[in-house]
Amino acid sequence: SGENGKGLNIDKSKLSPEELKKYEKGYQRNAFNQYASDQMSLHRTLPDVRDKECRDRNYATELPDTSIIVIFHNEAWSVLLRTVFSCLDRSPGHLVKEIILVDDFSDFEHLQAPLQEFADSQEKVRLVRAKKREGLIRARLLGASVAQGNVLTFLDSHCECTMGWLEPLLDRISQNKSNVVTPVIDVINDDTIQYQYSSAKSTSVGGFDWNLQFNWHGIPDHEKKRRKSDVDPVRSPTMAGGLFSISREYFEYLGTYDPGMDIWGGENLELSFRIWMCGGSLDIAPCSHVGHIFRKRSPYSWKTGVNVVKKNSIRLAEVWLDEFSKYYYERFNYDLGDYGDVSARKALRERLHCKSFKWYLDNIYPDLFIPGESLASGEVNGVFNSQSQPACLDSAADKKAYNKAIKLWPCHNMGGNQYWMLSKSGEIRRDEGCFDYAGQFVMIYPCHAMKGNQEWIYGPDNTLRHKNTNLCITLSEDGTKIEMKACTGIDRQIFHWKRKIPDSDVKKTEPNGQKLLR
Ligand code: UDP
Ligand code: MN
Repeated sequence: SGENGKGLNIDKSKLSPEELKKYEKGYQRNAFNQYASDQMSLHRTLPDVRDKECRDRNYATELPDTSIIVIFHNEAWSVLLRTVFSCLDRSPGHLVKEIILVDDFSDFEHLQAPLQEFADSQEKVRLVRAKKREGLIRARLLGASVAQGNVLTFLDSHCECTMGWLEPLLDRISQNKSNVVTPVIDVINDDTIQYQYSSAKSTSVGGFDWNLQFNWHGIPDHEKKRRKSDVDPVRSPTMAGGLFSISREYFEYLGTYDPGMDIWGGENLELSFRIWMCGGSLDIAPCSHVGHIFRKRSPYSWKTGVNVVKKNSIRLAEVWLDEFSKYYYERFNYDLGDYGDVSARKALRERLHCKSFKWYLDNIYPDLFIPGESLASGEVNGVFNSQSQPACLDSAADKKAYNKAIKLWPCHNMGGNQYWMLSKSGEIRRDEGCFDYAGQFVMIYPCHAMKGNQEWIYGPDNTLRHKNTNLCITLSEDGTKIEMKACTGIDRQIFHWKRKIPDSDVKKTEPNGQKLLR
């Protein structure tokens, strides 16, 4: 089973008590269906998932070789070995210098002596072990420090490489050492282990939001126009982080990773900004497909006590975001906490003469919504509910919140789910989530930039009017929820929201830097 990338549906009700136990344990330890994976060949076949045009593309005859670096902390045996074999089985031998497995201090039994035996039995596989739990960033650094190939190719430990995956990556780098390139990351279903893919036309590019979370987007129009064919490399403002190739020399020149980052998170944006701002480029190669098991939770332990993602993100914001770091910091009222010393990273930026973050936003990610161009921001405070205690419009704005009603909650003055921005085009938004009213109730929906149900007017009378229906956001009489009512300007329709002069109006300067005022 599992051949040709097919999935396996396990019917739990048909398992014996003993098998069911294995099944549950596999899920609990990995957050994917290890039980299903264990029943599939370590060399299972996959379909040729590439677009037809990819098959007759020509690549340079002399490509650089690569060290493939696979880091892991407590990975399942079948999944880890399938990652290794999929690379070995589907890459031209002379292009794979070695596969370096970096064990980030795992305690699973099968990753001790049995894995060492496996590595010893394979000519190209080397196993290095961290002496303590390092996290994915320093684990990759450990792998890179012993690598000998011309190119470093990083992979997660739950991947499957498909036919022809490697050549497009190496070809891009052979054209220019400062090209960093990622494959298309296909989904290996976490439950059935099915290999899922789509055509090059629907390749997604990486972005981020002001919570410094990575996200995916369709290819923007300006990038579609720039390219001749769907299978040409696509410029991507950021990368997801787990799977990419980079010249070893260039990785070192660029300052590898920030070793002050722990466990997981932020390093992908940090490297993406650094590549673009310091003279490199970052593309996705639509002819290179590698599958990755995306899971819904993180199965391993994180260091307790510290919010490591926040700490890592602050490190990168301090070094790379310039005046734009405030958009991130406002999210938690500048409560930065202890993020360690970043002076070495700032010195690196100086040394490499990297461009500004403004340049990056203008040239590499012009589609990003800039909070400084918003007309109002902060909590949206309806003062006059029945308890005469301030109540705020409150909702998450991420995927989980889509299609759900905006709630009313006591104002807590800590930003978070009460932080909203009014965009120039009338959206009430945070990140990619917008207030949307389609006649039923006000909900969060992905921002679509087409006004319609997402266009609001924050009037001089402090009402929030929906342009399309001409109705106003109104606190219910009992003060427990919001409703849409005709705009009459009653107290329950009045909202306080900090108005702003957009940055873009303040900073209108002439090319020589002088203010336009005369
Ligand atoms: N990893 C690691 N040490 C850690 C955390 C993660 O070596 O402390 C490895 C993990 O085994 C995986 C890679 O880093 O190979 C990326 O982690 P994960 O897959 O959990 O991240 P995601 O793909 O969900 O973003
Ligand atoms: Mn992963």
